[in-house]
Amino acid sequence: MSRTLTRSRQLQQRAEGFLPGGVDSPVRAFRAVGGDPPFVTRAEGAYLWDADGNRYLDFFGSWGPMILGHAFPPVVEAVCEAAARGTSFGASTAAEADLAELVTRCFPSVERLRFVSSGTEACMSAVRVARGFTGRNFVIKFEGCYHGHSDAMLVKAGSGVATFGIPGSAGVPVETAMHTLALPYNDLAAVEAAFEGHPGEIACVIVEPVVGNAGTIAPGAGYLQGLRELCTRHGALLILDEVMTGFRLSLGGAQELYGIKPDLTTLGKIIGGGLPCGAFGGRAEVMESLAPLGPVYQAGTLSGNPLAMAAGIATVGYLLEHPSIYAELEKTTAAIAEGVVAIAREAGVPMMMNRVGSMFTWFFTDRAVENFEDAATSDTAAFARFHRAMLDAGVWLPPSQYEAAFVGMQHGMVEVEATLEAARGALR
Ligand code: PMP
Repeated sequence: MSRTLTRSRQLQQRAEGFLPGGVDSPVRAFRAVGGDPPFVTRAEGAYLWDADGNRYLDFFGSWGPMILGHAFPPVVEAVCEAAARGTSFGASTAAEADLAELVTRCFPSVERLRFVSSGTEACMSAVRVARGFTGRNFVIKFEGCYHGHSDAMLVKAGSGVATFGIPGSAGVPVETAMHTLALPYNDLAAVEAAFEGHPGEIACVIVEPVVGNAGTIAPGAGYLQGLRELCTRHGALLILDEVMTGFRLSLGGAQELYGIKPDLTTLGKIIGGGLPCGAFGGRAEVMESLAPLGPVYQAGTLSGNPLAMAAGIATVGYLLEHPSIYAELEKTTAAIAEGVVAIAREAGVPMMMNRVGSMFTWFFTDRAVENFEDAATSDTAAFARFHRAMLDAGVWLPPSQYEAAFVGMQHGMVEVEATLEAARGALR
């Protein structure tokens, strides 16, 4: 395919004069895969169009939110109607409790919640509530999980931090990171040892119940139950970070799929239907330690923004009315993810595929991927070549080996075939 990127290249050069790296979020710069990042001008359904008029089949879906597809009419209409009534008031609106009610219907463990404007804020605030409620300082997280870019979470993190090989981040004081214990994922013995080494000091365990930010990694049998038991036994709170998995793996996220009841849950991405929105919530007793009821401070000028609430209500409401979407996503994603593995096998390319529902990753390794160390055995140069070849064939995968790909409701049989056809060329 002859794909020109003249206009995107010009736009990137212009952006670099104003924005560091030309981007507002690092992985968009395509440093890990090389080549020019296409500049998007519009999107519809399962497709994106760039500034040079090229069309791409989208497998990153704005990094997770677009489960219903781009510019889905009920969402667009809801946002336009809300915008016509005013974009932000800094005062309460009924829509906040409307969306909160839908969320609690999907997530029975969430008795009270608060809206924020990103997944980062949701995780940062959930950890603060956990510390405030328990009166303890230490936090357990897992290598390769990403819980946003707040100071305490940037320790052995996944996503862009893993992609760029940054050990943590410059600008995070050692004193801040000192209270974050980063342990290998899928290893209960390591968690048990950490609890024993810090008796009465661990406020919470925060985990991506299915990891997306090291590429997709599923929890081993009994792993999440084990975390639940250890937290209960040691008086720590279990925080499930469902920013990626919430409303994606099922209406009630990974906690519904695996039957786990966390103390706190963080949400983002799908909950805002593509607008800036996140939420954290859980047991009423814990959440009521937040101001104005309790001593834990947390606030936001744009929190519960009316456009974000409208998009969220339209998106979550649609999912609640069409629960059969999840069975469809399962089928489509399996056909795509497994179809490409079969093509790789025929071509003699080592590939391990991990998939849970509509999130998956093709790892360029022959080792089973159960934690970040396994994911890091991937041949990232081979992934980069694959990414570029797929992009040239009109298929846009997340531009890093350490990210999950997402399938949405608008990916159908035509898109399955197009992806397999592109992969046949790319893997040859
Ligand atoms: N937690 C998880 C599991 C995520 O995947 C992300 C973002 N990819 C975040 C937190 C941070 O969310 P945001 O980028 O909206 O701040």
